[in-house]
Amino acid sequence: MATIIRNRKAGKINLGLMGGTFDPIHLGHLVSAEEARQQFDLDYVVFVPAGIPPHKERSKVSDPEHRYLMTTLAVMSNPAFIVSRFEVDREVPSYTIDTVRHFAEQEAYEANIYFITGADAILEILTWKDYTALLDLCTFIAVTRPGYSLERLEEIQKSLPGIMNKVHLLEIPALAISSTYIRERVALGKTIKYLTPEPVEQYIKKQRLYING
Ligand code: NAP
Repeated sequence: MATIIRNRKAGKINLGLMGGTFDPIHLGHLVSAEEARQQFDLDYVVFVPAGIPPHKERSKVSDPEHRYLMTTLAVMSNPAFIVSRFEVDREVPSYTIDTVRHFAEQEAYEANIYFITGADAILEILTWKDYTALLDLCTFIAVTRPGYSLERLEEIQKSLPGIMNKVHLLEIPALAISSTYIRERVALGKTIKYLTPEPVEQYIKKQRLYING
């Protein structure tokens, strides 16, 4: 798998951080990351599976190690994709500000940071830890499915004028697939072939994940 190798002297890199619970990762996530890579000229996209998602009941989310391993299996064939253990190894909730600071403060490179995640998650940004500092440190790429209503983003603009200068919307038809849909299908004994890469499908089967919903 790739590592971030550009030296500071070679100039700034464009670094995408793909944040999500990835329970499980699916083709919608992968298409979103690849589209962001191309549109924003990203040198790398680092997938950062959330360790303890700050806003979710812990018992309802699969073990971080399973989500980390599935993410690793999913990105293996793309040299621009990397998976980070930064959040899964932490025993505290995964606040995005801590993650972005970690990647922004590396000695080995200097980077313009783009945080990529679902638009629904970004709609809650006013509840995120240190969100103003976060908006200073990175640009957001909010991925949506076609037909997504922008009304709530317009509301957020009233509280945070100028936020839309730091949030880019990216419409991804493949996001019709969701992790919830995959979990529900597994629980019903339905096939998930072609919704997630084959190694991830095999991992879910072998580890008997999601059979109880
Ligand atoms: P979520 O609430 O489970 O997801 C909301 C929606 O966004 C779902 O439709 C989800 O679909 C989609 N989504 C999530 N990540 C995506 C991605 N990378 N690409 C495309 N769609 C995505 O969101 P979450 O996964 O728990 O959180 C998303 C990110 O925001 C994480 O990195 C999390 O740590 C961060 N966050 C930070 C704070 C904070 O700092 N206080 C608070 C909340 C969230 P799927 O279920 O199919 O993925």
